[in-house]
Amino acid sequence: MRKTLIAGNWKMNLDLEEGMDLIQSLVNQITPDDLSKCDVLVCPQMPLIAPLSDIAGSIKLGAQDCGAANAGAFTGDTSPSLLASLGCDYVIVGHSERRVGRLEDSGLIRSKTAAAHASGLTAIVCVGESENERDEGKAELVVASQLAASIPPGSNPDNLVVAYEPVWAIGTGKTASEAEVQEMHETIRDQLVDLLGDASKIRILYGGSVKADNAVALLALKDVDGALVGGAALKPDSFLPIIRAAG
Ligand code: PEP
Repeated sequence: MRKTLIAGNWKMNLDLEEGMDLIQSLVNQITPDDLSKCDVLVCPQMPLIAPLSDIAGSIKLGAQDCGAANAGAFTGDTSPSLLASLGCDYVIVGHSERRVGRLEDSGLIRSKTAAAHASGLTAIVCVGESENERDEGKAELVVASQLAASIPPGSNPDNLVVAYEPVWAIGTGKTASEAEVQEMHETIRDQLVDLLGDASKIRILYGGSVKADNAVALLALKDVDGALVGGAALKPDSFLPIIRAAG
């Protein structure tokens, strides 16, 4: 049994007041029944993590990235162990906005994932193909090579979540079809078995324009264990229905 995870990636949005208002509104409206069906996670900008952790209650907190080491001369990086001490349980690594926009390769993502694990964080490792790669029939190959190179030894269901996020579906309003999503998630699970031995308990999230009106169908797919949500996570009215689509 894999408990559904609904994760909100706030990206570089929301100031302190807006972030506090949003988390307070979620805390007020998310019920014990909701939390019996899914874990709820929000990933704000780094400086919001400490103030949000004071009021987040049962909502989990995650960072959107971390450094590949725990301490040292790495100007601008954030230590995974600092994140853990501030109340983070999760960290997103390898989001396409970092793979493509910041030229991060899978080797670096693997080091970040290992550093996250060493600090007790669960890494949400993102993989996904571009529109061209899908059109050329290379989607599975691209995702398989990202996955193999991004996951360090010692990954297990407690410290690893995989997020399949087709790049062409992020922030575009386009969503992969249910058949495309299920097929890719099944392929990812098979590959995780090859890499780690057992993948029956590892959660695989779908991300890419998840909204209230497609969440029920996507979350009902056999190998979809949750959602990584960008735009729709920025308002309670759009995030809560996705939480309620779980279970
Ligand atoms: C994301 O940022 O990971 C994402 C999936 O964004 P959106 O839901 O806006 O497509």
